[in-house]
Amino acid sequence: MEYEERYRQAQRPKYDCLLFDLDDTLYPLSSGLAISCRKNIEDYMIERLGIEKSKIPDLCNLLYKNYGTTMAGLRAIGYDFDYDEYHSFVHGRLPYENLKPDPVLRSLLLSLPIRKVIFTNADKVHAAKALSKLGLEDCFEGIICFETLNPTHKSTVSDDEDDIEFAGLITTTNTATVMTTTSTSTKIFDIIGHFSQPNLGSRLPKTPIVCKPSEDAIELALRLANINPQRTMFFEDSVRNIQSGKRLGLHTVLVGTSQRTKGADFALESIHNLKEAIPELWEADKKAEVGYTGNVAVETPVTA
Ligand SMILES: [Mg+2]
Repeated sequence: MEYEERYRQAQRPKYDCLLFDLDDTLYPLSSGLAISCRKNIEDYMIERLGIEKSKIPDLCNLLYKNYGTTMAGLRAIGYDFDYDEYHSFVHGRLPYENLKPDPVLRSLLLSLPIRKVIFTNADKVHAAKALSKLGLEDCFEGIICFETLNPTHKSTVSDDEDDIEFAGLITTTNTATVMTTTSTSTKIFDIIGHFSQPNLGSRLPKTPIVCKPSEDAIELALRLANINPQRTMFFEDSVRNIQSGKRLGLHTVLVGTSQRTKGADFALESIHNLKEAIPELWEADKKAEVGYTGNVAVETPVTA
């Protein structure tokens, strides 16, 4: 019995989940979506929030640096807006035509005998659209996206997390509505002033938005998708997201550069190099005959 147990453990694959960021991880930065997204965010801040154009570069940098996303930062300093409207403004006009089907990545993913989950700060419409353009919509068990971590229908949902179904969350529609108060009556925190005169004793306000690289966001994602970080590989183009993931025990792969930085166990210039760089991921395939049990019902939550 003891021998059998040892034998079984020795045969157990090292990883049972692969957690993938989407943007600039599953497709290259050179596609131009990131730069276009940044431009749209700036336009939103000027056109919809009435922020002075000259303040935009400093403001964007500070918000992104301190809150994970510009959106999370805008909410923290006092702007109130509809999340769906924001997402459709900044993602609606992206050059999706630059994303082409990627059959190489598709067959790599499909050949991996391990759970695969998307974890993105973006909203579900963008995630579904980008995956569909890449021809990868059926390669993942589920998507953890903005709406998963920021359900705004809390009052109608039980507090018991066990009631929240992972696959259900990612397919839920119309959850991201925000109770809007009049933005004009809201006092905006002067974050530029806060950092240019750091001795004034003002405290940086907190954001209500849950997103990477916050460790709370990553922990929540792991919990919702029932992911054990010790047995999971996390693929990301963002160094700070990689570092948060590493602190929580995930195995980490920095994508988009071959330079490994602190917190990254591996670094890949392109996700296409996956098999050459980490061949052990496919070892589960051989061991599948002995001990691996794929215990997860695979659903196809992504619709174009
Ligand atoms: Mg990314």
